[in-house]
Amino acid sequence: MSNEKLEQLRGDLDNVNLEILELINKRAGLVQEIGQLKLKQGVNRFDPERERQMLNLILENNEGPFEDSTIQHLFKQIFSASLELQKDDNRKALLVSRKKKQEDTIVKLGPVEVGGSEPLLVAGPCSVESYEQVRQVGEALKANGITLLRGGAFKPRTSPYDFQGLGVEGLKILRRVADELGLIVVSEIITPADIEMAEEYLDVIQIGARNMQNFELLKTAGRVKTPVLLKRGLSATIEEFIHAAEYIVSGGNSQVMLCERGIRTYEKATRNTLDISAVPILKQETHLPVFVDVTHSTGRRDLLLPTAKAALAVGADGVMVEVHPDPAVALSDAKQQLDIPQFNEFLKNLRASGLYRENAAAVQ
Ligand code: PEP
Ligand code: MN
Repeated sequence: MSNEKLEQLRGDLDNVNLEILELINKRAGLVQEIGQLKLKQGVNRFDPERERQMLNLILENNEGPFEDSTIQHLFKQIFSASLELQKDDNRKALLVSRKKKQEDTIVKLGPVEVGGSEPLLVAGPCSVESYEQVRQVGEALKANGITLLRGGAFKPRTSPYDFQGLGVEGLKILRRVADELGLIVVSEIITPADIEMAEEYLDVIQIGARNMQNFELLKTAGRVKTPVLLKRGLSATIEEFIHAAEYIVSGGNSQVMLCERGIRTYEKATRNTLDISAVPILKQETHLPVFVDVTHSTGRRDLLLPTAKAALAVGADGVMVEVHPDPAVALSDAKQQLDIPQFNEFLKNLRASGLYRENAAAVQ
């Protein structure tokens, strides 16, 4: 008899559990609806005052046997789980999110496609210094079947006394060499006022690490048609990086490529710490192409090849590397740029790994 009673109580308990489950999910559905409304209205998702009101109402109606403190604790858990749900929904609602758009974004740059089946290289000097310098590097690219030429004309330097770049003159040099050799030009722009002007010279506008959260620059880049290569900030989390890209895409420019370039850590063996896992995370969470800049992330010539291989092995859509005809006298980043023979060797080894095949037929 008492066994029967026990079974019956257990059955009742199971039913109550299922009722709680149903209610808790019903509550979650309401929270999601509220979250969507808040997102549309652009209001903060967390409202501590509202949470206090809800708790007060619950505690006023608590008839036991649970103590108020226990009830408060339990409901706090439910509240925080709901907030996580809203946070997750907000992430999925981003235009750059893979949840929002399944297919990879492919950025067409003249004859090449970034984010397509073949990873690409972006190479060129840290800074544009002269026509001859860029032309020499451009020729080395062309000989190796590489289309994307980089070079800094506006340099965001740590010290105001360091070489700041040739400015518009540098952009003109890049454009000239690119037109002569049929290359595509990538260069950094550091101020919103220069974005429109840059469209005249550049095929890709780079937004550098130091400007990843220059929101006015991001918004301006969102208003133009030129594709953007956005580099990860020196100390930016992946979430902040993704939100920076969202600024550009939500402004109307869907042609955004991301670039992991190392982050600041306590490690001194490399210039920055290459966050290699950021690549598959960015590929999973967004539909944008992802590059890895092996030069600025490592700051070491001896690590360019292994990190480039690592980047491609984990799914990067391309690698950025700095090349200079005579790195020893380069006006910036003299220590880690490759000279042209070293660059040719780097490419030969990267191709031998089987991970990189850009224009393989044309090169042989
Ligand atoms: C660059 O690519 O020229 C550059 C300055 O890199 P970062 O913004 O990643 O430091
Ligand atoms: Mn550099």
